[in-house]
Amino acid sequence: MALSNSDDSKGLLQSRELFEYVLETSVYPREPELLKEIRVITANHPQSLMSTSPDVGQLIALLQKLINAKKTIEIGVFTGYSLLLTALTIPQDGKITAIDMNRDTYEIGLPIIQKAGVEHKINFIQSSALSALDELLEDDANRESFDFAFVDADKVNYQKYHERLLQLVKVGGIIVYDNTLWFGTVAMPEEFVKESQKKNRLHIIELNKFLANDDRVQISQVPLGDGITICRRL
Ligand code: SAM
Ligand code: CA
Repeated sequence: MALSNSDDSKGLLQSRELFEYVLETSVYPREPELLKEIRVITANHPQSLMSTSPDVGQLIALLQKLINAKKTIEIGVFTGYSLLLTALTIPQDGKITAIDMNRDTYEIGLPIIQKAGVEHKINFIQSSALSALDELLEDDANRESFDFAFVDADKVNYQKYHERLLQLVKVGGIIVYDNTLWFGTVAMPEEFVKESQKKNRLHIIELNKFLANDDRVQISQVPLGDGITICRRL
């Protein structure tokens, strides 16, 4: 087994060639033009690696269509790849509550979201995600009202987001957690892990154990992108 994680940009597959094969064959040809535009402008950003992997995006859109998602939550917007993807997938009268403490990065993708004609579906909340979720929970109308949530922010708080999202998402609704294989480091001895990845590796390992034992959700951990865990609320 290869223990080196020196090339983070190839996803979790055996080689960069295989990852690019999947993208070139099945993902990019179907990627909406404006989504591609967000991906391309984000590529110049110093933190471009944060953008949702397009293969993950394709599965998210499929899940959203399968459950007819209309009301969704997005925790961690960055430049808006997964946000625009969701906005293009849900119906015209759908709504996305999009939370990020950084508005500047949201504004990088905003002109493209406007060009796509889907800005009206988005309620962007500039806030720490925990306080925004707690505020949503203060309004009873929000409880068990969301169809779908995508969580892609600070890994240290994923379990806290989970507790709140289980109150906000309806039975049968879906919560997707991104980066649940953390560059493959979850299965590496610690000495092989880069210093910068050690802290989140431990948070993700805890999360994975927790979700595996959480009988409030049906789960599937999928080795796509950097690993995602799909939870269906029971
Ligand atoms: N899903 C995004 C996309 O498709 O481009 C990528 C999100 S990026 C990995 C993580 C984002 O989470 C950053 O934009 C960061 O500002 C935001 N974030 C991190 N911690 C947060 C917190 N505690 N509350 C709100 N936003 C947070
Ligand atoms: Ca991510």
